[in-house]
Amino acid sequence: MGRVAYVNGRFVRHADAAVHIEDRGYQFADGVYEVWAVFGGRLADSPGHFARLKRSLGELRISAPMTDAALTIVLNETLRRNRISDGMIYLQVNRGVAPRDHPFPNPEVSPSIVITAKAIDLAASEARAAKGVGVVSVAENRWGRCDIKTVGLLPNVLAKQTAREAGAVEAWFVDDLGLVTEGASSNAWIVDADGVLRTRDIQANILRGVTRNSVIRLMADSGITLDERAFTLEEAKSAREAFITGAGSLILPVVRIDGAIVGDGVPGPVAKRLRALYIGEASVRAA
Ligand code: PLP
Repeated sequence: MGRVAYVNGRFVRHADAAVHIEDRGYQFADGVYEVWAVFGGRLADSPGHFARLKRSLGELRISAPMTDAALTIVLNETLRRNRISDGMIYLQVNRGVAPRDHPFPNPEVSPSIVITAKAIDLAASEARAAKGVGVVSVAENRWGRCDIKTVGLLPNVLAKQTAREAGAVEAWFVDDLGLVTEGASSNAWIVDADGVLRTRDIQANILRGVTRNSVIRLMADSGITLDERAFTLEEAKSAREAFITGAGSLILPVVRIDGAIVGDGVPGPVAKRLRALYIGEASVRAA
């Protein structure tokens, strides 16, 4: 069997998977999503993603489509049916199908749920990390609730396109004060000129990255000092290292910011070490 998706209670051929035209995810981006990295067929950082899903749904007052235990079974079955060993799994839950009208449907309708999975080539991902990637800066123009992992991603889409057209992989949003908030699909980090690891604190208007949390846990005994403090674009350009974290990028060294070379222009030791620790731990858990 080829690629399979889970749509509202059924596994269907990916090519035939469809939602209703009155689906509120389609009409209003009235929904949330999660993405898990998958190693050896196992969900990475699962509790963190489940906790964030619950929080995102709660903030938007969308009912959970099923229990965590049932969702775990469906996610794992999606991985199995797609024969995913290393890859990514995407889940969207939205407010459901109802005649188009902005307020919540009354009475409430069942939430819609879609799950897709895809394999990634870990060797290609490693090769990209070994070279490092470029990022470009864009003006922060998102709404004030970036802590909710909503499917409303138009600013992120435009930012990513700007990055792609500039030959970069990620875009960093920069706020009115000149401070980097986060990437279009990742959290942003530097090892500053003093050797301090810095990333924006989660009280800021950013997504509370699950990979970000794992990195903080992994570096706890490393002797590296962490300061959850915002940095400017200029500080990033003159940093010793920069990198991004996310379920898609894992830990990915950044070697160019707006064309300026960061550090020695090659992935730095902290990013390399954290990436190895992260993938090593996830792989051991999957074994
Ligand atoms: N920030 C944004 C805007 C994202 O879209 C993502 C991931 O998609 C992240 C940060 C990283 O979050 P996580 O590590 O949970 O994947």
